[in-house]
This record gives sequence, structure tokens and C-alpha cells, in this order.
Amino acid sequence: METMKQYIEEAESALLHTYNRYQVVLDKGDGVYLYDIEGKKYLDFCAGIAVFALGYHNKKYNDALKAQIDKVIHTSNYYYNVPAIEAAKKIKKVSGMDRVFFTNSGAEAVEGAIKAARKYAYLKDGTTDHEIIAMEHSFHGRTMGALSVTGNPKYREAFEPMIGNIRFAKMNDFESVLANVTDKTCAILFETVQGEGGIYPATEEFLKKVRTLCDEKDILLILDEIQCGMGRTGTMYAWQRYGVKPDIMTSAKALGCGVPVGAFMMTEKVGQHSLTSGDHGTTYGGNPLAAAAINVVLDLFEENHIIENVNQVGAYLTEKLDELVQEYDFITERRGIGLMQGLVFEKPVGEIITKALDKGLILINAGTNIIRFVPPLVITRENVDEMMEILESCLK
Ligand SMILES: *Cc1c(COP(=O)(O)O)cnc(C)c1O
Repeated sequence: METMKQYIEEAESALLHTYNRYQVVLDKGDGVYLYDIEGKKYLDFCAGIAVFALGYHNKKYNDALKAQIDKVIHTSNYYYNVPAIEAAKKIKKVSGMDRVFFTNSGAEAVEGAIKAARKYAYLKDGTTDHEIIAMEHSFHGRTMGALSVTGNPKYREAFEPMIGNIRFAKMNDFESVLANVTDKTCAILFETVQGEGGIYPATEEFLKKVRTLCDEKDILLILDEIQCGMGRTGTMYAWQRYGVKPDIMTSAKALGCGVPVGAFMMTEKVGQHSLTSGDHGTTYGGNPLAAAAINVVLDLFEENHIIENVNQVGAYLTEKLDELVQEYDFITERRGIGLMQGLVFEKPVGEIITKALDKGLILINAGTNIIRFVPPLVITRENVDEMMEILESCLK
């Protein structure tokens, strides 16, 4: 067998160098642990970037996928398939939204949400110069449309021009949103809890004010729940804790727990007055294998009381991270909700993350000086203790 070093050399000569990867080749997973090809064990507080909510090697999940593979993997959207019908019904139930469109990724869900909002506005007045307000420090994906609403100039610059008529406001600053509203505003888009940008939750006040503004002006509220959704903050979707409902929303990451899926959903009002036959499509979206993954994920969320676990263990993690803020001067703040947490450092965190990896703990950053905690949603208090022990040994 080749060594890890050999594999990494091969990877670097064959793959386009778009990622600065850690020097590890992962091989398999079990529960909340991952193993590299040399058999070293890692406690995983990244979950494939907030994806693998159920933990690795879940028997029921694996069996459901295997059963679907033996039936049919793909059929195209020219035809109906039962797993997609079941998945759409379940998503409606957990999200309270009325219409579902399946995609293959988060970025593609954001693309669809933008198209739906533009079409809604177009049907109202027949013009094509509508504007969207997005937020600074947001992240919505790497495709051109999703990048256009991503509030990080560094990601956008080399790829200009972006899609037009995007304005950026400040998250949790309602006045800055108001200042950007015009007669042409068709949508206001943000992550209910900003992820990549540094774990900034929307405040209840901000969400409510934006919702009221949207209602008054018939502007669509689009919430990106790709990272913060699927139970991560202790409700199925983060907006549900505020009693404020979006007109359009996106979901991905943990929705398929590893099988690449995404979705955008909308209310009946938007569904009846936006995208229609011929307006939008995708070859793979909602194929039987992808839909089977969504079905078993949503079943397991219920059966295994995932959201209850997030609330219990999330509270414990919050308490433990707050202790670190008290204890270390160079840790300035903890932000987040449930099992989506950020620890803000005065200095870059790259070295701490690499050290933790050496000691068998997988952590990721959000920006240069924030450690992001987005573990599998099945972690226990004992796993939090285990994480804290390794993390503290790296801080000293
Ligand atoms: C990850 C992410 C995306 C992009 O999803 P991909 O599946 O990588 O395209 C969009 N929005 C948010 C909030 C994300 O965290």
C-alpha cells in the first residue's frame, strides 16, 4: 500500500490546487470518529463541514442507500420517482414550506432561490432590473450567481463581473438594510446564522424587522439554511426559533448527510408566481439515490431524537467554550447557537488546528482567527469532554 505521503504527492500532481488541505488521507469513519489510511483515529468536530449529522457508518443510513442502489440510482426529471415524492413530503413537513425543488449542492440551491425571486418580481411588473440585498461577510457558494451574493470581495474580485444589481447591507443592522432598499428590490437574502463568515447569528429583532419590511413592500425574504439548518441550532431550521418564516429558503449540507443533495423551498404564494415549466431544471436533482438519502436522514432525525440531543449537548458545549473565554486572554468571544459555535481568537488559529489534528482532533476555522465547531449532531457530552481535553492541551 502506498504511504500517506505518496498519496498526497499524487494528489498534488493530479488535482487542481484549489484547496490547502491538511496532510491527512482519510479512509473510513465510525460514529464521531474518522480514521486515516494508516489507521490513526480522529475525533471529528467538523463533520465534513456540517454535513455528516448522523455520524459515520450508520447502519440504517447505509442500508437504505444500498437498497436504493439495487433498485435504481437515476431516472431523470422527465419522470416521477417515489423516493423524491416521499422526500418532498417530509421536507414540507419539517420546514413548513409548500414547494420543493431538489438540487445537487448548496450553491445550486442558492442559484434557484435567486432565479425564483427574480421571476416573481418580473411577473409583477415586467421589468428586468430588480435588485437583491445580501449581507457583508456572507457565504452562499462558489458558482457565479451564489458568488455574486457572497459578501466577501476576496472571493469575488478575480471573477468580476458578477450578476448585476446586488447590494450589500450589514447583518443585524436594520438601518443599513433600509438604506439599500429601492423600488427595484425583489429580495433580501441572508444566512440565519452566518457560517463561513464567522458564526454570526441573526438577531431576533433584525429578522422580525426585515420580515415586516418585506411584507410591507412585497419583497421576498430568502434565508440560506445550508449550514445552520437541519437541526444544527436546536430547531430543524434556525429561523423556526424566531417565529419568522422566509418566502424562499435553501437547505443542503446535512440534508443528505454525505450524498450530494440540496433543495430550495418556497411558500405556495411564491410557488404559484415564479418558476414554471421550462424555467429551471437539473439532470441529477432529486434522483432516487439522492432522495433516498434525504428520506433516511429525516427518518433518523426523528427516530434518534437528534434535535433533543443538539439542545442538550449544545448547551454543554456552550458552557465549556464559555469557560475557555474566561480562562484565556487570547480568546475574546464565543458566538453561536447549539452545535454551531465559533470561538474567536486574537490571533490566527491555523497553528492550533494543525496541532489538534496531530493529537487526533479534527477542527476547522471560519476566517483566520475563529475556530468553528460543527460536529456530528449525535455527539455526546463525553465527546465534548474529549474534545476539550485535546483543545486545551493545544492552547497551553
Ligand atoms: C456551504 C454553503 C453554501 C454552498 O454549498 P455547496 O454545497 O458547497 O455549494 C451556501 N451557503 C451556505 C450558508 C453554506 O454554508
